[in-house]
Amino acid sequence: MSIAQIQKPLEAGLYIIPTPIGNLADITLRALTVLQQVDVVLAEDTRVSAKLLKHYEINTPMMGFHMHNEHRKLGGIIRELQGGKTMGLISDAGTPGISDPGFLLLREALKEEIPVFCLPGPTALIPALVQSGLPCDRFVFEGFLPPKKGRQKKIESLAEEARTIVLYESPHKLEKTLTQLAVAFGEDREVAVVRELTKLFEENFRGALKSAIVHFAKHTPKGEFVLVIGGKK
Ligand code: SAM
Repeated sequence: MSIAQIQKPLEAGLYIIPTPIGNLADITLRALTVLQQVDVVLAEDTRVSAKLLKHYEINTPMMGFHMHNEHRKLGGIIRELQGGKTMGLISDAGTPGISDPGFLLLREALKEEIPVFCLPGPTALIPALVQSGLPCDRFVFEGFLPPKKGRQKKIESLAEEARTIVLYESPHKLEKTLTQLAVAFGEDREVAVVRELTKLFEENFRGALKSAIVHFAKHTPKGEFVLVIGGKK
């Protein structure tokens, strides 16, 4: 079946469209057809998303929609949606709204009774959780820990959590976070440090927090990371 055969006229509204987290092939046929069919694509960074659209020969006009202009652009976008436009919202990678812009627009659209359709697709937390080997039937996703204010309190509250915990982390904070977690959770708590999912240097380190600290002291953290931590037994 070709993409052309699965194209159907789009219902007016806002489409939340997940995009690849590394490997450009990780995008659904439906995501591609919706990107092709919407009137405009709202992109977190139009330069980043231009590469994806070019790769799939999609020429839909793009408009920047990111944390620095979302409040300013919100009213105009809502009016266009109310006027019957179809819009696709994408972020640089993964699912908009998941540690990325999108929630503000989505909530406002729903408030105004504009149809919202979130397509299923890539996000870093689910493959990291599943391939961590830690229980994935129940989990909590905390996104990025607070950088300063409230950080220690959050870590302490998570120490008692019985479900598997999923966190996003940047390379330059990884060692500090692992150390703080070891202090609060105990250094023997199980962790999976999942790096560069779907990319060339994908790595899945599994072990106790203390061995993760030793590993990343020897191997300078580079790239994107998801931390999956076993719940309190
Ligand atoms: N919206 C995205 C999603 O659905 O996963 C998350 C965007 S957030 C700004 C970026 C963070 O997601 C990174 O710092 C990292 O923690 C995680 N991430 C994104 N892509 C990843 C990848 N390929 N491998 C590991 N972690 C990734």
